[in-house]
Amino acid sequence: MDRRSLIKQAGIAGVLATGVAPAVHAQAAVRWRLASSFPKALDTIFGGAEVFARQVKAMSGGKFEISVHAGGELMPAFGVVDGVQNSSVEMAHTVPYYFYGKNPAFALGSAVPFGLNARQMNAWMKHGNGRKLMNEFYANYGMVSFAGGNTGTQMGGWYRKEIKSVSDFKGMKMRLGGGLIGEVMQKLGAVPQSIPGGEIYQALEKGTLDAAEWVGPYDDQKLGFNKVAPFYYYPGWWEGGPEVDFFINQKAFAALSPENQAIVETAAAYANADMLAKYDALNPTALKQLVAAKTKVLPFSQAVMEASFKASMEVFAENNAKSPEWKKIYEDLRTFQRDQVLWFRFAEMRFDQFMASQKL
Ligand code: CA
Repeated sequence: MDRRSLIKQAGIAGVLATGVAPAVHAQAAVRWRLASSFPKALDTIFGGAEVFARQVKAMSGGKFEISVHAGGELMPAFGVVDGVQNSSVEMAHTVPYYFYGKNPAFALGSAVPFGLNARQMNAWMKHGNGRKLMNEFYANYGMVSFAGGNTGTQMGGWYRKEIKSVSDFKGMKMRLGGGLIGEVMQKLGAVPQSIPGGEIYQALEKGTLDAAEWVGPYDDQKLGFNKVAPFYYYPGWWEGGPEVDFFINQKAFAALSPENQAIVETAAAYANADMLAKYDALNPTALKQLVAAKTKVLPFSQAVMEASFKASMEVFAENNAKSPEWKKIYEDLRTFQRDQVLWFRFAEMRFDQFMASQKL
């Protein structure tokens, strides 16, 4: 019997009489399993869960241990929400937008096209209504969420052919992360494919894919995409600052002691900041190596960006009509974004623009 149900049945007086209450400080050993959606080879994004588990173990003096399992090991990479919901595992490390098919609102917990950058996402989640609204929504799946990483603004993917105009997307079989960007790309004429990170290279090599996006220089180089598609576009306007999440089974979280709950929250915050810092530190060297290996790094044209923006707004309007959960959270996000864009236009943007034009 756990401490909570004991208190419920016996009442506080009864608990005090049995002497159970002081045992709060003698933490029992806790063993959890975490299902990741990512392949082990990616020390950045898969590594985020290992960083988290290491911190939990250290802060609990070794009493709280979480084993981390790669995508496919315990369940399919995209099966982890079901796994958490049905208590197969206590928690998962994944990108919420993978579960767009269950309800469009999942995408709002990580990234929507032309959404927030990493800084703004953290601001909305921590000091806006983001986390509160997302956890209200995730409660429908018996889950509670914590931010568990961010990649920063992503690159726009690898293409076997140059993208000279919007019409070049017509008929293009492209691997994209999640259903929302798939719907937007469909409006541009592309044929979206949802494939886990570990399987993209082969599909590009065989030509069953014409293009694929994953994250940015460091991960993409590791997965070898430059060997099978020479054109590397930017920015990934569908992922300005995608949040990676820890999803935890609500009952498993509620059964933790307050101390262990605080440990989980703090370790997640550590892993969240660590992932973005790692990507920022590693991406420049990888980008230089990719360019040295003859990758053609090109910006999407203004016309492509504008057509993509328009297509995104159409999909958002469709979602407003389809999902009340999406509509409520989306409106809050956009209101928050309006002020963020206004503020970022001043100090941050001017500083970045000036620094980008200097010789260091
Ligand atoms: Ca991506």
